[in-house]
Amino acid sequence: MVDSVVVNSIRYDIIASYIEGYMAMVDHQKCTIANNPNNHPQLFYSDILHEVVHIILQHCGFIDHHPKHEKYVVALGYGLYDFLKNNPAFVKELLESKGEEP
Ligand SMILES: [Zn+2]
Repeated sequence: MVDSVVVNSIRYDIIASYIEGYMAMVDHQKCTIANNPNNHPQLFYSDILHEVVHIILQHCGFIDHHPKHEKYVVALGYGLYDFLKNNPAFVKELLESKGEEP
């Protein structure tokens, strides 16, 4: 299982850690993503993508406390998860491309 992700060239270690009331949580200062080890394994990737969206928005200066912020993060996290899972040919071609047009 993946033990880190790189977002905007910053590596975040994925650690197994239970945080009351959360499936997962990013610590921006420690560059860690705490993933609840009690979660079902099928939730691992969607939870990590959810935290990656939080990280991207944080890096862009979006404020976490906006009332709709979490709803957007949930939508984007699950949307990315669904897109990546259901478009393996696109992902494979993207990873293998060298920047040329398809
Ligand atoms: Zn969240």
